[in-house]
Amino acid sequence: MANKRDYYEVLGVEKGADDATIKKAYRQLAKKYHPDVNPGDKTAEDKFKEVNEAYQVLSNPEKRAQYDQFGPDGPQAGGFGGGGFGDFSGFGGGFGGFEDIFNMFTGGGFGGTGARRNGPVQGDDVRVDITISFEEAALGCEKEIKLVKDEECPTCHGSGAKPGTKVDTCPTCQGTGQERVVSSTPFGRIQNVRTCSRCRGTGKIITEPCDKCHGRGKLRVSKRHTVKVPAGVDNGQVLNIRGEGEPGEHGGAPGNLLIVVNVKRHPLFKRRDDDLYIDMPLTFTQAALGAKLDVPTLGKPVQYTFPEGTQPGQVFRLEGAGVQNLRNPARKGDLYVTVVVELPKKLTKQQKELLRQFEETATSSQYEKRKSFWDNLKDMFR
Ligand SMILES: [Zn+2]
Ligand SMILES: [Zn+2]
Repeated sequence: MANKRDYYEVLGVEKGADDATIKKAYRQLAKKYHPDVNPGDKTAEDKFKEVNEAYQVLSNPEKRAQYDQFGPDGPQAGGFGGGGFGDFSGFGGGFGGFEDIFNMFTGGGFGGTGARRNGPVQGDDVRVDITISFEEAALGCEKEIKLVKDEECPTCHGSGAKPGTKVDTCPTCQGTGQERVVSSTPFGRIQNVRTCSRCRGTGKIITEPCDKCHGRGKLRVSKRHTVKVPAGVDNGQVLNIRGEGEPGEHGGAPGNLLIVVNVKRHPLFKRRDDDLYIDMPLTFTQAALGAKLDVPTLGKPVQYTFPEGTQPGQVFRLEGAGVQNLRNPARKGDLYVTVVVELPKKLTKQQKELLRQFEETATSSQYEKRKSFWDNLKDMFR
């Protein structure tokens, strides 16, 4: 339920807008983003869904009042289940104190009765984990995922009743979807309202269930889904694809598809936010003489000139050779190259001789650290 946009904002109207204004704004936007007008445009499709969701709430006086009071993350219509005292996690910050909660149970504090039980309920979110390579995360990719979820039964259109058969009003709850149960609590006897056990809150009794879904109104389907993973995504981030989760009930909006991205490690690169880090081995002659070397990046290697006298552990920054920012594609991180000077092992006789000759010609001023080390040592014993 998080990350919902403000419904008034979605429709581009003032908070106190009247019904005619809301309707007009909805019509204009629905026309603009309709899938028939924007074939294949995912952004338009998402907008269209968002606009519809907003209108569904703001065009219904009861839902709108509820929305105005609790905001987008407040209690959803029909969302009050079970009735135990431990079940408050989803209610958001709208309720002040215990009194409010108490009122809710006795049916006095919140809305009417019945109607909201069989009102629209948003579908559940569906979570899928994907694992992608380091490069795929940095550069973006498309991944095909397999999704097992419910879909509205096409035969009965979600009603669960065989087409053309009679649907009776539930005699236990008289169609309200709720039953009242009186129970004793430490606070006295209270009337507890809970989902009708006979019709499971639908308010209806199906006389002949649909053959295809056996009365469930939904079918379990396995679907392939191509997911566009944007460049710059990082390990553990979640892509939220609106409206692709489980279908809603009683005309509620569908849930979202949540894709949890796992990114594999890279053998050379490390990443922190948009910056990349790499250890670059140089031979001691390359470091001493300077060298033009190919530094690997996520794309083509970049030729970089390490200056004469490059030191072990020295860090060079290649601007813009990092990862593209997830939210702002114009921004790119940097690549930090840490020099690792490697000394040769198992020297030949001739190499050793050449190095000895070199050492004889070297002066103390050519070794800054060594010079200051011995100078400091001398001072200590003065
Ligand atoms: Zn069916
Ligand atoms: Zn019932």
